[in-house]
Amino acid sequence: MLDVKEPGFRENVDLMFHRAVAHVDLPPGLAEKIQICNSTYTVRFGVRLRGKIETFVGYRSVHSEHMEPVKGGIRFAPEVNQNEVEALAALMTYKCALVETPFGGSKGGLCIDPRKYEEHELEQITRRFAYELAKRDLIHPAQNVPAPDMGTGEREMAWIADQYARMNTTDINARACVTGKPLNSGGIKGRVEATGRGVQYALREFFRHPDDVKKAGLSGSLAGKRVIVQGLGNVGFHAAKFLREEDDAIITAVIERDGALVSKDGLDPDAVREWIGQNGGVKGFPGVDYVENGQSVLEMDCDILIPAALEGVININNAGDIKAPLIIEAANGPITANADEILREKGVVIIPDLYANAGGVTVSYFEWVKNLSHIRFGRMQRRNEEAHALLLVKELERLSADKGLGWELKPDFKRRYLQGADELQLVRSGLDDTMRKAYQDISETWNSRSDVHDLRTAAFILAIERVAASYRAKGL
Ligand code: GLU
Repeated sequence: MLDVKEPGFRENVDLMFHRAVAHVDLPPGLAEKIQICNSTYTVRFGVRLRGKIETFVGYRSVHSEHMEPVKGGIRFAPEVNQNEVEALAALMTYKCALVETPFGGSKGGLCIDPRKYEEHELEQITRRFAYELAKRDLIHPAQNVPAPDMGTGEREMAWIADQYARMNTTDINARACVTGKPLNSGGIKGRVEATGRGVQYALREFFRHPDDVKKAGLSGSLAGKRVIVQGLGNVGFHAAKFLREEDDAIITAVIERDGALVSKDGLDPDAVREWIGQNGGVKGFPGVDYVENGQSVLEMDCDILIPAALEGVININNAGDIKAPLIIEAANGPITANADEILREKGVVIIPDLYANAGGVTVSYFEWVKNLSHIRFGRMQRRNEEAHALLLVKELERLSADKGLGWELKPDFKRRYLQGADELQLVRSGLDDTMRKAYQDISETWNSRSDVHDLRTAAFILAIERVAASYRAKGL
């Protein structure tokens, strides 16, 4: 294996931006205005833990304020740094534009290994970080709305929401200051699964475009496709679970920190996740092959590769050996710009991160709207829908009886037809619609323009055009 140094994450995102912006007609200087990161705030704060003061470093980067609030997760990881946070903030700008969520791009991070702390310590640290950000309006329902990312989840979002509410006791919209909250703190159904669900919907839509499927050298549907998932965190787990359970894909390998599991008959993500929870890793999982060098499994034969963990895992050192004809970037930035070029030359089709993992922010948008409207989706309509459906069913039954037709609606059909949509169904419907529409836009650009040869460039072009349009409308 080669070991060549590559540009940093932010430089990689910039390289991809530049590749695409060359295809967009912009007034002088606007490309640079869109590309640069508006600001990055570094906060350093001390927390008294175990009898001494420990100092933490955190960031909140705002990439673009062409729309406000700006949006993006907060990551807790030891290697968090300014370059990474800025790259992720930029990706948020393009992601939000692409899936038409009305936000600018932002991202935050705290340098911490959360596994080293007790829950009450993490709460203290998170609240203090939230305080530092909120007092600078870097958490604010109208200006900057964080969400979960790697190393954070519902629990941290609930602490952040509560911290903000304590600091803004008269703000009626306080709950909209952060998304990804638990249901009992103003969250929305379907947010936890949203990014994985979005990956599933993205793949489904891709397979509804036979010409695009053909470009990857594949055919047919998702059923029976061999899938390798790298990273069984929240995103990878849900994507793998739904693809297996609902689309009959076969999860032939799962790559984790301590190695990989391989099985040509398929792995059950629920069982693997439970095993990891009990044993701290995948090693020892019964009945399948274990490969200690997990990264080597990225190069295994499969139909679809889903990198769902860290950035840069597919890079100049291993891109040439990747055998998957189709890669969907469930993580942010898993393929470096150099690797992207190598893969493109090999004819690999890449469904890019700014589209593929946009399910999270899409459902965050629904949660934010729910918080601002102070009512759960479906509450006003559900029973009314049911009453309407019942009218038709009753009329059919009456006709059948009057005319002696002997029609009988199947009980299961009747039950399903009569059921009004609840919040979860509405969230999934909104997410599905978003993912379909965005893919159709990208595919159209990919297929209709002779100067565009890949989905990433197509996605960036659309995102850049939309951000540019919004700047133009403002007169900039
Ligand atoms: N952290 C997620 C992402 O990278 C979600 C962001 C959000 O919901 O605001 O897209």
